[in-house]
Amino acid sequence: MKYISTRGGCSPQSFEQVLLTGLAPDGGLYVPAELPRFSEQEIPSWQGLSYPDLVLKVIAPFIGDEVPADALRKIVEESYAEFDHPDVAPLTKLAENDYMLELYHGPTLAFKDFALQVLGRLLDYVLIKNDQRVVILGATSGDTGSAALEGCRHSEQVDIFILHPHQRVSEVQRRQMTTVVGDNVFNLAVEGNFDDCQSIVKTAFADQSFLPDQTQLVAVNSINWARILMQIVYYFSAALKLGAPEKAVSFSVPTGNFGDIYAGYLAKRLGLPIKQLVVATNSNDILHRFINGNEYSTTDLHHTFSPSMDILVSSNFERYLFDLFDRDAEKLSDFMSKLGKESLHISDEKWRQMRECFASASVDDALTCETIASVFADTGKLIDPHTAVGIRAARDCNADASVPMVTLSTAHPAKFSDAIMKAGLDAPELPPHLADLFEKEEHYSIVPNDLTAVTDFVKERSHN
Ligand SMILES: *Cc1c(COP(=O)(O)O)cnc(C)c1O
Repeated sequence: MKYISTRGGCSPQSFEQVLLTGLAPDGGLYVPAELPRFSEQEIPSWQGLSYPDLVLKVIAPFIGDEVPADALRKIVEESYAEFDHPDVAPLTKLAENDYMLELYHGPTLAFKDFALQVLGRLLDYVLIKNDQRVVILGATSGDTGSAALEGCRHSEQVDIFILHPHQRVSEVQRRQMTTVVGDNVFNLAVEGNFDDCQSIVKTAFADQSFLPDQTQLVAVNSINWARILMQIVYYFSAALKLGAPEKAVSFSVPTGNFGDIYAGYLAKRLGLPIKQLVVATNSNDILHRFINGNEYSTTDLHHTFSPSMDILVSSNFERYLFDLFDRDAEKLSDFMSKLGKESLHISDEKWRQMRECFASASVDDALTCETIASVFADTGKLIDPHTAVGIRAARDCNADASVPMVTLSTAHPAKFSDAIMKAGLDAPELPPHLADLFEKEEHYSIVPNDLTAVTDFVKERSHN
């Protein structure tokens, strides 16, 4: 499988090449040059497979023979052995045709473990094979950082630097990052907000001359294709349990950077009968305004109870727009260059096409708390605020009560106990493997909100 850039300015790349980078050099995102389609005979034959076996089936066409089958199997099996539920991604029934897919049983209690456990091991395999070292550099508003550190800390071929906004992540999130020990692991608390962290990382990727020769930066946020790929699998897992491909299934996805729901869109393109895909946003509702009103424009950032979805622009949406624009890279580049400067619109026909694929809703903090409380009252299940946004949006958008609706539950409630308490419920306990989180020693460096301060730090500490 080859990968091309959404901006059209790069030669096709291999899976290994896109794994070991971030954005394409032309500023675009990598997408498969063409999508395979699993047949109606093949998908049912996956019924009853273990989670790792299903992973291997779904990802096979995207990796081809670039990673030998036995090495890939070992990577995948080890990754999902880190999850503390035998089903890996258990499906819970909340009411008739109303389900929740629990994606928080990994080591850091958020769905990002599904991809980052595999990404860390894949990187290790490829880098050892190539006798190569890389520097992972990422910015986090919370969950990506801990999942990336947890996935990559064992790798002897990487140094990993994660920037978080100083005093602006929850204490559980911070401690999950700063208590990871390893002489290749560095946490930087930047004296700025998440956008500042992200813009430092973006600038560093664009000019990597501060790094020694032969070293390159690798991205661990969801612009990295390998992350998207691994997230396609749980859509198949849930749908197969609900009778797909004979029966259709709908999904509601708490959405920030559009990585998770883009994986759902790909699952549909790969042949899974998905009826509705609900884009569930909090008050940062750029996608909801676009899907609902054909207006694509940025606003100010809102800090909400679901901080992992507090974004201005969803980077992976570009991958979907590329398809919507019939893969016309020039048209897409033009569209993206105007974003932030003016309010953008698409033709009625394209808008209709987008709405055939996606429904959307925006859920504010008050409704989020109300949903946490009502789901607990009705089912005894405690849900985190991101999941609550998803469930509320699912109920608002559901167009066909006869089709099962699955909301992706993206984080464990104990990660966001503030919101749970605001909903009038008792703070949940951390699972046993994190019970001593508040006793462990923290390691992090506070750095000024300044590009050179960060690049100097990386240069001095990396082992090259
Ligand atoms: C990252 C994250 C999201 C948003 O996922 P995207 O792929 O960025 O849309 C939602 N919920 C939680 C808990 C997250 O950590």
